[in-house]
Amino acid sequence: MLEDERGMTQLSTGDMLREARTSGTEMGNKVAAIMDAGELVTDQIVIGLIEEKLEADPEGSFIFDGFPRTLGQADALGALLDKKGQSLDAVIEMQVDDEALVSRITARSTCGNCGEGYNDLSKPIPADGKCVKCGGTEFKRRADDTADALRTRLMEYYKKTSPLLGYYYAKGDLKTIDGLGEIDEVQAAIGKILG
Ligand code: AMP
Repeated sequence: MLEDERGMTQLSTGDMLREARTSGTEMGNKVAAIMDAGELVTDQIVIGLIEEKLEADPEGSFIFDGFPRTLGQADALGALLDKKGQSLDAVIEMQVDDEALVSRITARSTCGNCGEGYNDLSKPIPADGKCVKCGGTEFKRRADDTADALRTRLMEYYKKTSPLLGYYYAKGDLKTIDGLGEIDEVQAAIGKILG
């Protein structure tokens, strides 16, 4: 929605890493087992991915999705933006309690053809088994959306990513919204922050 409304570009390190896996690059092979276990890949790899995207589009405005996830990544992002004479407009924390997060994540799937998202609870795959967007009939779930990997992902979040809340709070960038609302409510809350 932000991309459509504001012409921003979504930079998702998770999507970039999943793409690297399927393309069979050396880096993709290296990170596959780490991702499936729910652990974080090294700062060096994800910072390199982001740097490449920023350099390719000097005038762009970006949504950093799933990045930064460690203090080292946050420092590196600050340095990369400084170099470009840019800065973050806001850091948005979407608050969702762990139980709701786990039930949302274990229910989600995507169309294997066009990537349209589905959720068993809120947006089930149509009864005829065809994607609403493209008519595709193959649906997939992420390999790390399992109970075991999720436990690790949550622990990684608390150990390595949650310190970023204090880091960005101290810089005056942190905004917090309720991520439990309906999609249009969350969209409106983000829109209000971005102005
Ligand atoms: P996501 O799609 O954002 O949930 O990320 C999926 C997986 O990719 C994570 O569990 C990590 O293994 C890896 N990953 C994505 N972004 C990062 C990041 N910024 N730092 C380290 N690992 C990441």
